[in-house]
Amino acid sequence: MDRTVQREKLRARQEKIEARIRAACERSGRRREEVTIVAVTKYVDTDAIGDLLAAGIRHIGENRVQDALPKYNVFGQDGIWHFIGHLQTNKVKDVVGKFTYIHSLDRVSLAAEIDKRAKALGIVVPCFVQINVAEEETKFGLRPKDVLAFFAETSNMSHIRIIGLMTMAPQVDDPEEARPVFRGLREWRERIRELPYGNLAVEELSMGMSGDFEVAIEEGATFIRLGSVLVKDEEES
Ligand SMILES: *Cc1c(COP(=O)(O)O)cnc(C)c1O
Repeated sequence: MDRTVQREKLRARQEKIEARIRAACERSGRRREEVTIVAVTKYVDTDAIGDLLAAGIRHIGENRVQDALPKYNVFGQDGIWHFIGHLQTNKVKDVVGKFTYIHSLDRVSLAAEIDKRAKALGIVVPCFVQINVAEEETKFGLRPKDVLAFFAETSNMSHIRIIGLMTMAPQVDDPEEARPVFRGLREWRERIRELPYGNLAVEELSMGMSGDFEVAIEEGATFIRLGSVLVKDEEES
């Protein structure tokens, strides 16, 4: 399919998504500007990222370092890159300095490595702490029982700034079933805001994907991570 057709199809998907976001904002008394779309581009090639950027989308999310780097090498300077997937400690050196945000901080050893690499570059990396709110066996993220200890143990790491929390809701048919998980993450934010540590500025909630972003917005999402609904042709998906 040629690029012009691809771009027209993207426009159409984008318009539908915008209408849904606006409606969810209205239902919950929020402003559209409070919600940022992170386009998740793991399903598509580098050219498709060019289409997204041309369509005015600035935030690009990738979940695997190996797949992301060739794309980053082309469009790294044109967008704001978010690392959203599970991050192995030995890959941190490829992420820090390239990706502006890390959404998947979920253990002290990972925080220490990010802090070390950031310090070497003289930067501070804004991170989201991933919480496994639903306590699913198969998912990454801090268990609720480990959350407070995590913040205490990382509180002296001055080259990470924890700006928000991230969660992945269970895969369910009815997005309403994800609501308690999103609400749970918002409640964690209120608790963590009370903590006295200097590297915390916890404002953001990274939650909501293609199947459940409207519910996530109603529960306070400030970053929604949209893959298939935004980047895939409906006839294909
Ligand atoms: C793939 C992925 C998404 C987007 O998933 P869709 O359901 O396609 O919107 C969001 N967040 C993470 C961490 C992902 O890996």
